[in-house]
Amino acid sequence: MDSEPSRIAFNMDSIEKLRVLFERFPGIGPRQATRFVQFLLRSSPSLRREIATEIQKLGNNVKQCTECRRFFAGIGEQCTICKSPQRNDALLLIVTSDADVETIERSGNYNGKYFVLGGLLSFGDTNPLPNQKQLMKLLTAKKTIEEIIIAVPANPEGDNTEQFLRSLFASSKHPISAKVATLGRGLSTGSEIEYADAQTIKDALENRR
Ligand SMILES: [Zn+2]
Repeated sequence: MDSEPSRIAFNMDSIEKLRVLFERFPGIGPRQATRFVQFLLRSSPSLRREIATEIQKLGNNVKQCTECRRFFAGIGEQCTICKSPQRNDALLLIVTSDADVETIERSGNYNGKYFVLGGLLSFGDTNPLPNQKQLMKLLTAKKTIEEIIIAVPANPEGDNTEQFLRSLFASSKHPISAKVATLGRGLSTGSEIEYADAQTIKDALENRR
């Protein structure tokens, strides 16, 4: 390890505390958490201030879109995707998380709307999905939706969630006439949309069935 003179000036407790906090981020282990802390220690005070300010602002001006349940910062009740007249209202892509929306948007291969489930269902899970009520409300209220594409990860939890959603749509009090498709499994088993590249997403969308 290289020498780190800047560390001496810092309280070890706050270094340790920050490392533990970073470890709580999804997919971040102790080594990555340590790298984040080391990066911050070497960063300029102005960058650290900017990061701290933006994190603080999250609680103040970020809200959940009333339509897709994605978190966004801005004015109004709906995010820019839901508000956009350029988006195709006939397609609704159901994803697990906000990160999935970002990955698919970056791929540039999709022009419909989204809905964020906020979680998946494990086997034997009797709790509803986090945003289940809002999803059913949206599906029964929006008559423009012609196709629902379920885009959950190709793993047991994803499969279970997909089956649950399909039976939920089929047993809805208010009939859902939209066609229900699942993302093609160009995505290898166990892989998550969040980490897929643009071509994989394109293939998975094209091969939906
Ligand atoms: Zn939205």
